[in-house]
Amino acid sequence: MAQERILAVDSDPDVLELCLRSLSAEDYVVEGATNGRQAIEIAREKQFDLLLVDIMLNGLEVYRAIKEFTPEMIGVIITGSERTEEIINALRLGFDDFVVKPFTADWLSSTVTKALNKRRLERENVRLRTLMPLFELSEAFLTTLDLNNLLDQIVHTALQETKADRASLMLVEGQELVVKASVGLPSEIAAKARDIVGQGIAGWVADRGEALLLAEGASLDPQIKEAMIREEIASALCVPLLVKDKVIGVLNISKLGEGPAFTQGDLEFVSILGGEAAIAIENARLYREAIEEKRKTETILEGTFDGLVVIDNELRVTSFNPGAEAITGHAARQVVGRRLTEVFGEEIDGEGSPLRRAMETGQPVSPIETTISGRSGVRDVLEGITPLHDVKGDVFGYLLSFTDITRLKEVDRLKSSIVANVSHELRAPLASIKAYTELLLDELEDGDRVLRQHFLTVIDRETDRLTGLIGDLLDLSRLEAGRFVMKKEPLHVGEVIGDVFDLFDIQAQERKASLHADVQPDLPTILADRELVTMLIKNLVGNAIKFSNQGGRVDVVAREEDANLILSVIDQGVGIPPDDLPHIFEKFYRVWSTTESGVEGVGLGLVLAKEAAEAHGGQIEVESKLGVGSRFTVTLPIREHADEG
Ligand code: ADP
Repeated sequence: MAQERILAVDSDPDVLELCLRSLSAEDYVVEGATNGRQAIEIAREKQFDLLLVDIMLNGLEVYRAIKEFTPEMIGVIITGSERTEEIINALRLGFDDFVVKPFTADWLSSTVTKALNKRRLERENVRLRTLMPLFELSEAFLTTLDLNNLLDQIVHTALQETKADRASLMLVEGQELVVKASVGLPSEIAAKARDIVGQGIAGWVADRGEALLLAEGASLDPQIKEAMIREEIASALCVPLLVKDKVIGVLNISKLGEGPAFTQGDLEFVSILGGEAAIAIENARLYREAIEEKRKTETILEGTFDGLVVIDNELRVTSFNPGAEAITGHAARQVVGRRLTEVFGEEIDGEGSPLRRAMETGQPVSPIETTISGRSGVRDVLEGITPLHDVKGDVFGYLLSFTDITRLKEVDRLKSSIVANVSHELRAPLASIKAYTELLLDELEDGDRVLRQHFLTVIDRETDRLTGLIGDLLDLSRLEAGRFVMKKEPLHVGEVIGDVFDLFDIQAQERKASLHADVQPDLPTILADRELVTMLIKNLVGNAIKFSNQGGRVDVVAREEDANLILSVIDQGVGIPPDDLPHIFEKFYRVWSTTESGVEGVGLGLVLAKEAAEAHGGQIEVESKLGVGSRFTVTLPIREHADEG
């Protein structure tokens, strides 16, 4: 504890000397004055804990004057005689004790010590009493993260416990101090009240980071004095709110009218309150920031199409984002907490895997191409691993990122198979065209019209074949890439069947096949893309004719059933072997026996038909019996579901 300070006032140099000597020996800091005026002057410069004053020097007046600006100070009166009346009067007027001249050094020091002890105890008492509400508040601070509510509680507590008229809490915003909570301040003032850091009382405190206790009569910085007069403040107490030595605001309380000024006890209370407030405000701010940060991270995790999986050091899944759910077909709630190898199989951290490499090196592994098996089957992915470090720099887990490249790989494979399958089909007609063109050039001079006609017919047919093939390939790539722009219109299916029959007129005649259409008379129009529906029916009818025996019959039946169009293409042709049946809708798949028999085709017609049906929200099915015939059935919604109602 700091040494206690005593101001001794007596006109008798011997008495003064005795006071100074005996009290210094007791380890007090003692100063002396020989008259009242001098005593008041000294007390203005420095604060004293105890005034020892001779009653003959107008002791009562001096005591009162000094108490004005040092309200905490206690007093001991020195009287010249054992005049009880005088002593009683002094005690009534606020003196704490007395000594009677002539007194001994012992008597004096025991009286002074007793008075100071009593005062200390009283102060301690007051301190404890004032700290009680703080403890209650601390609990609120710990549990309240609503900043406004918290600031309100702070100003109310400050006002109540110090019996102030006004309390406000200001926070630093740039160079300004802005009132965030107040009580006793007219609301229109509170709304506008702003101080500049460095100016006014709050500005002074914010600038220096030191508390300020102001009472009338105390020696004041002129700038502050002016501010007090302007704001009609009798007594003010302002403490800085400090977070790690940085002023984040001030807590300001003031008294306007008469009455006791703020005491050291008030200052202590408000300083502690300010300290707690600063921590609570900082906590609330950090909490808000953490929440925002968390939301941001969550949005990124939720929103990204990539699969992101976080695992701990035991390789247990701690987080599984929707992207990962989409790629693997596993639901997060079923996966979180389980070991990664249980979910994806042992390969995921097998020898040489990206995860194993990251675990061994502690370094990130940039995405490499691999496969993962989930509930939705094997997917081609780019897998990258990032070790996760805690604040100390230790690895606490790993972030696995997966980019689904299955579709890209499919396109890649398709391209390769197109190159492999189609190059032959493209070359064959080109070779014919080339050969017959050369023949034509050679034969030209002879001018055999019949031969020439034959050559040109072959060239014409081969060119058509080529054009058809290229058309199919283009359609397929457009449909698969989703780039086909559908132009939907109401279609009479009977009309489309008629158009397709016209196209196959010659071909049907050649094979002596008969074509029959059976369209329900009141069949409604369907909303569909004419080009795609024509292509669909053309491919099915074309196949039915191609794979019919000489003199066969092809039936096309169209009916409405449950708001769907059911279109069947039925032939009595060669039929499809059961083993081949599941594969005929695959790209470039052709039944071996039919290819051997020299029937033209590349194995794209049914793929296109299926894509066309699916593009309309429909489907296609097949039934077939070897040597008996086949029936292809297409189901198309008559109207799109979105158009209903
Ligand atoms: P393409 O007709 O060009 O070979 P498709 O995709 O149209 O290709 O047909 C794939 C295969 O399915 C054909 O090669 C054929 O073996 C078989 N197929 C299709 N339609 C019929 C049918 N109506 N009768 C018998 N087999 C058929």
